[in-house]
Amino acid sequence: MNVFETLVQYDYEQLVFCQDAVSGLKAIIAIHDTTLGPALGGCRMWTYANEDAAVTDALRLARGMTYKAAAAGLNLGGGKTVVIGNPKTDKSELLFRSLGRYIEGLHGRYITAEDVGTSVEDMDIIHQETRYVTGISPAYGSSGNPSPMTALGVFKGIQAALFEVTGSSDLANRIVAVQGLGSVGYDLCRRLKVAGASLIVTDISEDNVHRAVAEFGAVAVAPSEIFDVQCDVFAPCALGAVIDDTTIERLRCQVVAGSANNQLAETRHGDRLQARDILYAPDYVINSGGLINVADELEGYHAERAQKRVEGIYEIMGQIFSLARTHHIPTYRAADRLAEERIAAVRQVRSTFLPTSRSLLHRG
Ligand code: NAD
Repeated sequence: MNVFETLVQYDYEQLVFCQDAVSGLKAIIAIHDTTLGPALGGCRMWTYANEDAAVTDALRLARGMTYKAAAAGLNLGGGKTVVIGNPKTDKSELLFRSLGRYIEGLHGRYITAEDVGTSVEDMDIIHQETRYVTGISPAYGSSGNPSPMTALGVFKGIQAALFEVTGSSDLANRIVAVQGLGSVGYDLCRRLKVAGASLIVTDISEDNVHRAVAEFGAVAVAPSEIFDVQCDVFAPCALGAVIDDTTIERLRCQVVAGSANNQLAETRHGDRLQARDILYAPDYVINSGGLINVADELEGYHAERAQKRVEGIYEIMGQIFSLARTHHIPTYRAADRLAEERIAAVRQVRSTFLPTSRSLLHRG
């Protein structure tokens, strides 16, 4: 990999290689953009096939976080850490303490959090070396499990999407098909049920399905059938890349809106959804409730304030749909544009009003 060429392509600010022989730490911290604020992004631990794959993942995920934070209206930039190693066998206190020292050395330019392969306990160890970590144990003042807030954000996003296509955000008598009844999907079902929606559900875990049928009166279908059901909203809350050439043609809904990351197998599938007149709620915006919640920790966690901000996903989604309508672009592009415009505007304001070192020199 030609590292600088790669950094220039999407204008990355910094790439930090962390190595510690004693603990065996090999980690990469990627900081994409800190225009809006410190770069916040999770710490992933994975057995990467090689170092290039680890760098590529860190860079891709960091850039994604820039867009997510910007679209969510947060004063945060985008960053990510990847630790090269097996989360089942290679973890140790020393490894995470060592990583914590590296994060501390960035003096707040980057703030870490839990991600695939890391846990609250790992964040607690990092916390022994730095305060630039979120998602630590509630005993230390953290916000706890983010899934309920993610589910709340998805619920508000579904309401906003329904308003866009029908003129009403009312869920009474609407049918929502939920794929995946895990932490987010199950909580989403609960909210939808309370709001009067009928549910069609699926999961590869039969226990989860039985629970949803018993508790919410949901209709269960096989995992392979969820794309074919007649519904108002299809809510992917399991895996990524579920919207592809085959599944798009099977969908019989007006809206795709769920929590899963990277729902579009390729961006062109967002164009195809638009062509089919199916409104797509961009994944990284509708599922930003967890990030908004954890970001609140940086001001001293306040549950009510965090909830209000998560509910704001309704308005953000409305702005995205309006942008898409006005410019005749697919919603996934509108979300990117919203994020890019916000970053550009803040950058502009700062360059206008901050004295440059040159003018300071002259004044001196
Ligand atoms: P989870 O692991 O708790 O739940 C996922 C569920 O999907 C499980 O019940 C699993 O059995 C089911 N599943 C897996 N494959 C399936 C298939 N082929 N068909 C049907 N069901 C299937 O995960 P989660 O925390 O609820 O997250 C769900 C999605 O939302 C993930 O894509 C995750 O990346 C994304 N997300 C979660 C959060 C959060 O706060 N938890 C935040 C942002 C994005």
